[in-house]
Amino acid sequence: MTSDPPLTLLDLSDMGVDRLSGVGSAKLEALNKVGIESLLDLLTWYPRRYLDRTRQASIAELFAGEEALVLCRVSSVDTRRTRQRRVMVTAELSDQTGSLRVTFFNQPWRARQLERICDDDVEVAVFGKVEVFRGRRQMTNPVIDPVGDRTGRIVPIYPQSEVAGLGTWEFADWTAQVLRRSSARGIADPLPDAVRSRLGLVGRHTALTDIHHPSDAHDVRAARDRLVFDELLRIQLVLVRHQRELSHNSSGFVHSVGAPDAVVPGLIDGFLTGLPYELTPAQRRVIDEILGDLAKAVPMHRLLQGDVGAGKTVVALVAMLAAVEGGHQAALMAPTEVLAEQHAAGMQDLLSGASRRDDSTLLGERPVEVALLTGRTPAAARRRILAGLSSGEIPLVVGTHALIADGVEFDSLGVVVVDEQHRFGVEQRAALRVASPEDAVPDVLVMTATPIPRTAAMTVYGDLDLSVLDELPPGRTPIVTTWGVGEEGEDSAWAAVREEVAEGHRVYVVCPLVEESAKLEVASAEATFERLASGPLAGLELGLLHGRMSADDKRHVVDSFRRGAVEVLVATTVVEVGVDVPEATVMIVLDADRFGIAQLHQLRGRVGRGRAASRCFLLTTAEPGAEATARLEALVRTQDGFELAEVDLDLRGEGTVMGDRQRGRSDLRLASLRRDREWVVRAREVAMELVDEQGRIEVAELADELRLLDATDEAFLTKS
Ligand code: ADP
Ligand code: MG
Repeated sequence: MTSDPPLTLLDLSDMGVDRLSGVGSAKLEALNKVGIESLLDLLTWYPRRYLDRTRQASIAELFAGEEALVLCRVSSVDTRRTRQRRVMVTAELSDQTGSLRVTFFNQPWRARQLERICDDDVEVAVFGKVEVFRGRRQMTNPVIDPVGDRTGRIVPIYPQSEVAGLGTWEFADWTAQVLRRSSARGIADPLPDAVRSRLGLVGRHTALTDIHHPSDAHDVRAARDRLVFDELLRIQLVLVRHQRELSHNSSGFVHSVGAPDAVVPGLIDGFLTGLPYELTPAQRRVIDEILGDLAKAVPMHRLLQGDVGAGKTVVALVAMLAAVEGGHQAALMAPTEVLAEQHAAGMQDLLSGASRRDDSTLLGERPVEVALLTGRTPAAARRRILAGLSSGEIPLVVGTHALIADGVEFDSLGVVVVDEQHRFGVEQRAALRVASPEDAVPDVLVMTATPIPRTAAMTVYGDLDLSVLDELPPGRTPIVTTWGVGEEGEDSAWAAVREEVAEGHRVYVVCPLVEESAKLEVASAEATFERLASGPLAGLELGLLHGRMSADDKRHVVDSFRRGAVEVLVATTVVEVGVDVPEATVMIVLDADRFGIAQLHQLRGRVGRGRAASRCFLLTTAEPGAEATARLEALVRTQDGFELAEVDLDLRGEGTVMGDRQRGRSDLRLASLRRDREWVVRAREVAMELVDEQGRIEVAELADELRLLDATDEAFLTKS
């Protein structure tokens, strides 16, 4: 008799939880409701945390003011309404040493939960701060977990159990059943032994057993490491496979720079010679990386990260000129009209300046023209530009979504630059690619000014190569950042405003963020404007800028600010992107504790763009909470966007760093890009080893497992 092979994750995902004893139709329905259908779903429904019984106290030992964990039983439950009409559920709990009252406000469902626990007469673990009220010990809104009559030192607590009507002890039972029943065949471990032992990981069967039924904290850690690694490896395998498949299967343009037979020979050389400044070493390195990619037939997929002011524009332009030098076209797509206009103007300036200074090449005679195509382009100009793009006469175009509208065709689109890509959808980038009729796939450079930590980049943009401009051009004076509290803080900020305006400089005042409502935010901006104009900044020329103004009004006030007719621009966060006024030297953010790190960093980046020293005042009305304090202190301490991104990841977790894209990442059940940074790096290394040049995963069982990834995950991961 041959024994059955070990169970794979796919086998487990084909077996329903209805086969477990204790799962009848009611439980099945409850399980399905939280998304658990298969045995695999159950096994990957990991404990939310663990109770360490060695650390529990008895009720008699509780001290007021301390946080404590007690195990006890529920003896009675009572529900009533307070005078403020709030629902108040109280319960009496007891152990052998005494009794404790717990009170929950505004959680009416607690009554049912506690009554059930009372009826079942099972133990609950209660964790909270001990208070003494009229001589009695009590806790308000404690964490309460049914434990059941389980023994063992470490008791797993499962998520959501109380809400769905699924006991946490039931989960423990069911997972034990699955593991017991699979122990004959064992759960397969597709990870090559060499990799497993090199990384010091436990086997998969052990990991799944110990995550649910550990005998000590060490078991939990080892199990977690293994399961975290598996999650991250699956993601990296998808990314690396996609990247290698693309390289292997698609053919792109070969843009070789400096070739004697180029259509516009010497274009890039001439451009670089004509630049008014020396490139920074970082710019030179990144340009080399890009030109290296462009010279290969494999289409480029590269992410250019660089802080605000790092000098991405010139790098992007060089990439675009590489296409033009070889007789092809290049397009830059920006997320807003303002940004598109600025890119077009900035690039045109660079080109005209270079052509004036460089008399040795074609540039001298006729600078390459940059066309601008946005939703605002007048019909006649649009017709002219579309004709120029399809004939190939227009080599460079900058625009918004208008670039991918119907009717836009290129003669030979060789390089595409996408600015701030997270604002675009996958489909839009793909659309720009097919707008080119040739078989060759354009090279793509994605630019982002929002630094994200390396391990996050490896996951979110893991199928892109990464270039980082990690150095600012010389001559920038650091922005002196201070955090001021209350009136005193404001007073010193307004004094600085008057000094700087007297010097001919300009000032931004960013109004309190009102997240819930754009309308309230505008009202708050208007109120701030009135208050400053008639109070602390009376006598200065103030302008108001917010998102609900018409485009013309916005442009008008920004122009006045640029010219100096407006000295102080009172604005909502609309100034976050796009407004570029070198004479602005002061940034004041009101209620700065309401903003996130990235946003404050972007706002601060509006100043410090000229030669003069700049200042940033982060003002709060009162001492904020611990997390906001940590954010503000980080901004005061450093101006390095990457360092700030790491702090942000530490403080708030990955969801915020990645915004929308993170939402599709449902396969990360245990892994955290924050806590598990080193595992991200290791998983990527292993994925690179296990995927061959053609994008084949060398271990078939691992490749099979990728079928388990959520479809949305796949779409997210392989977006480019
Ligand atoms: P980013 O797009 O990365 O925010 P920009 O490309 O707009 O930055 O550049 C910011 C400013 O720095 C621009 O005024 C640009 O002219 C200038 N700049 C860029 N590279 C250099 C350099 N190597 N030396 C001096 N100034 C530079
Ligand atoms: Mg820029």
